Amino acid sequence: MYDNDLSDVVAADKAHVWHHLTQHKPFETSDPRVIVEGKGIHVWDAKGTRYLDAVSGGVWTVNVGYGRESIADAVREQLVKLNYFAGSAGSIPGAKFSEKLIEKMPGLSRVYYCNSGSEANEKAFKMVRQIAHKRFGGKKTKILFRERDYHGTTIAALSACGQPERHMQYGPLTPGFVEVPHCLEYRKQWDVEDYGQRAADAIEEVILREGPETVGAICLEPVTAGGGVITPPKGYWERVQEICKKYEVLLHIDEVVCGVGRTGTWFGYQHYGIKPDFVTMAKGVASGYAAIACLVTTEEVFDMFKDDASDPLNYFRDISTFGGCTAGPAAALANMEIIENEGLLENTTQMGEYCLTKLEELMEKHKVVGDVRGKGLFLGAELVADRATKEPVAEKLAQQVVAECGAQGVMIGVTNRSLPGFNNTLCLSPALIATKDNIDEITG
Ligand code: PLP
Repeated sequence: MYDNDLSDVVAADKAHVWHHLTQHKPFETSDPRVIVEGKGIHVWDAKGTRYLDAVSGGVWTVNVGYGRESIADAVREQLVKLNYFAGSAGSIPGAKFSEKLIEKMPGLSRVYYCNSGSEANEKAFKMVRQIAHKRFGGKKTKILFRERDYHGTTIAALSACGQPERHMQYGPLTPGFVEVPHCLEYRKQWDVEDYGQRAADAIEEVILREGPETVGAICLEPVTAGGGVITPPKGYWERVQEICKKYEVLLHIDEVVCGVGRTGTWFGYQHYGIKPDFVTMAKGVASGYAAIACLVTTEEVFDMFKDDASDPLNYFRDISTFGGCTAGPAAALANMEIIENEGLLENTTQMGEYCLTKLEELMEKHKVVGDVRGKGLFLGAELVADRATKEPVAEKLAQQVVAECGAQGVMIGVTNRSLPGFNNTLCLSPALIATKDNIDEITG
């Protein structure tokens, strides 16, 4: 019997819910975890156990923390006024949020609403292909993606996925996606001084191999998330930008995780002076208070879809049913106001630096920690069996660390499991409201 008598809920969950990313066999002898309440940085499960949530809702989402009345009020007010109208019409919160968002994204000007990170990325892929057909005789349709990056769960997004474990058994994949090497300096692929330059040069090599006339875009995470919390080496992004310009390759930055504050700036790309053609975002946009994703692009891209009114096919022939939900932008606007009013970008930078220092201390004490890295409150600690060879630890050990933290009331995450060449990186990404005490608890 659970303290708060939710045993019936747990039983119903166990009987009928197919959990995401979960092997269900263990539930024959144990119960699934059901989270029932959240406040600030903490959540409670159906057994009444309290956890410090250092994974922001499991997957880097609840950036402003739980129980935010101002977001709930904004959503409620909007829902009773107008909950929905199809995405081909505008709405008050859609207009207001896009204006606010664009204020934070100099150089970009158009927002396309949809529901998930995967969907936003697919919209960008479609735009790239339409541009190829319109401008480049149907040739520049290839899209590059990077080893270890992830862009979503739908088949085309999975085809642009640099983590083979995600798409094994889901083939055949969509043609036209081509992988470029990762840029994780800790796992060097080239023995050179200027690693950032070399890792970016590898992109140019792929473009030349494929033929620049066939490559339309490259899709990259500013800081790779599920692939192991990979921060780019110095000079990497400057060179990537140069290469994109040289070969007329559109630059698509996937901000689904980094977006809206996670790394201490509104967007991850803003640390590196990047000028993207497309930015996609989802998780932190409304901190999970409503489902919303956006594809943001430039006026130049937008113009390509409207410059010839005599052509009946000259518009983006795409719709997202729930891109017309008004709760999303209403929540997103309130979410952004919280980040501004509470100085959460500054807090993220300060707490991120503090957390990284604590992780470095842990690395000094524990040989199993091979590398620590991250930006803002988006941090990783890669576990190795041997520091000299950098041999990854067994998946079981990483899982054990996660379980032990859970037993002590702290939820942490782990990325990249089980495949050879992939490594176990513990992942810390608490809400942007985290305090020093919270960080001490997480890293204690
Ligand atoms: N892009 C990145 C970088 C992600 O980490 C994810 C999800 O984890 C996605 C895209 C897909 O987002 P969604 O699960 O909302 O489709």
